[in-house]
Amino acid sequence: MGSNILTLCYLIASVTFIIGLKMLSNPASARKGNLVAAFGMAIAILGTIFLYESEGEKLHNYAWIFGGLLVGGIIGTLAAKKVKMTAMPEMVSMFNGMGGACAALISIVEFNHLYKGIEGGAVSAGDVQPTVLIIVLGLIIGSVSFAGSMIAWGKLNGKVKDFSFTGQNILNLLLLAVTIGAGAYLVYDPAQHILVYAILGMALIYGVLFVMPIGGADMPVVISLLNSFTGVAAACGGFLYDNKVMLTGGILVGAAGTLLTILMCKAMNRSLANVLIGSFGGNKAGGAGGSKEQGTYKEISLSDAAMVMSYANKVMIVPGYGLAVAQAQHVCHELEKILEEKGVEVKYAIHPVAGRMPGHMNVLLAEADVPYEKLLEMEQANDEFKTCDVVLILGANDVVNPAAKTDPASPIYGMPILEVEFAKTVIVNKRSMKPGYAGIENDLFFQPKTSMLFGDAKKVLQDVCAEVKAV
Ligand code: NDP
Repeated sequence: MGSNILTLCYLIASVTFIIGLKMLSNPASARKGNLVAAFGMAIAILGTIFLYESEGEKLHNYAWIFGGLLVGGIIGTLAAKKVKMTAMPEMVSMFNGMGGACAALISIVEFNHLYKGIEGGAVSAGDVQPTVLIIVLGLIIGSVSFAGSMIAWGKLNGKVKDFSFTGQNILNLLLLAVTIGAGAYLVYDPAQHILVYAILGMALIYGVLFVMPIGGADMPVVISLLNSFTGVAAACGGFLYDNKVMLTGGILVGAAGTLLTILMCKAMNRSLANVLIGSFGGNKAGGAGGSKEQGTYKEISLSDAAMVMSYANKVMIVPGYGLAVAQAQHVCHELEKILEEKGVEVKYAIHPVAGRMPGHMNVLLAEADVPYEKLLEMEQANDEFKTCDVVLILGANDVVNPAAKTDPASPIYGMPILEVEFAKTVIVNKRSMKPGYAGIENDLFFQPKTSMLFGDAKKVLQDVCAEVKAV
């Protein structure tokens, strides 16, 4: 009876994951989708705790289980409540890494169970080989995902710098080959239990070395790839325990992460191999910033910027990472409404890697209730720039850098960008002439059509709103 109800719990949870994922694909339903999937997860967890039975025995370590749930729940709640919107990508990376670590720990614990069985003669090494294969897969993928996500976390918050050395790709490939070889040997002879720890160590080092050199504009691809790794590692846990809901959850995360990786690669105009081996935008190109003679740029005053926008027919806003830093999404929406009251058509051009996580700008603008129909994807926006009187760039830099189209030596060469230079006037708001994430100068800021509007995006937009109202 109990096991039938548990199966039903798992079925309900699996369905909520799929419904939740579907709802996440639209900002209007995303929040609810998250709650639906979390509800399903709660059913699966509680069902497992109270209904799971193995050989007629129920779970009994309730103090440990609820202690862990309490500590994890408190840390998770505090982290989610306290995190600033700009630190969200780091937190996502950190949580993703925790998923990988869980999968790796499960593999170690379960291998030790099996090994005890082999040692005690309860099972033969030959019988457990398929299980050891799953354990090894979970261990390698989970450890790489954990170590890689920790480095990505450090890179996103600026604590870890890109690092590479000559021959690193060869070393990485060798290390991966040795790790997989050791895994294969452990599957062949599960009695060599010490290999588990060697595989763990090597996979962790590989995770660090594999993410270290990737920088510039390529981090979005790596982040979604690590996300898919964690999903696959969790699915291995599902196989191991014959737990349908863990399997479904893992497969969904793995599939969604893989699709996102493919989409991100497309957005960056790169093949995955090129991202991973080419360390595009890594420190190879770090010298590009600031060294080139750029000429002069011109500034625009708040009142002139307000005037130009008030008398425009169409204004396209290009949001970037700086808008998130300034938390200026609400006042940005206010400017949009004030301009529309004056009969100006306002739209937003969304670059797929703007900000610091996939979908960052969509989430940010949805938080401020910007209608979703106003957001144009890159291709659509590029078709519309020529009909715009003004493009207002708010804290974006790399995603509008023409070097991606014109300078083969640039670390972002080949990445599709928002072609804002086709508009009649370009106004760029940022605080200084400092470069963006890729660390390179932007010719756009020195072009005759472009005017710089310096200052923190929130403050500048508040002042622009006041000026536009007064026009
Ligand atoms: P960028 O990082 O290129 O530029 C952001 C700009 O915002 C900076 O030049 C900065 O200039 C300005 N800025 C910072 N704070 C403020 C503020 N308070 N007010 C106004 N301006 C501000 O951002 P983009 O969005 O254009 O590009 C994203 C970059 O991040 C790409 O290179 C992408 O590959 C990378 N990336 C993206 C991820 C993703 O998943 N989306 C993940 C990891 C990396 P200043 O200091 O002068 O103000």
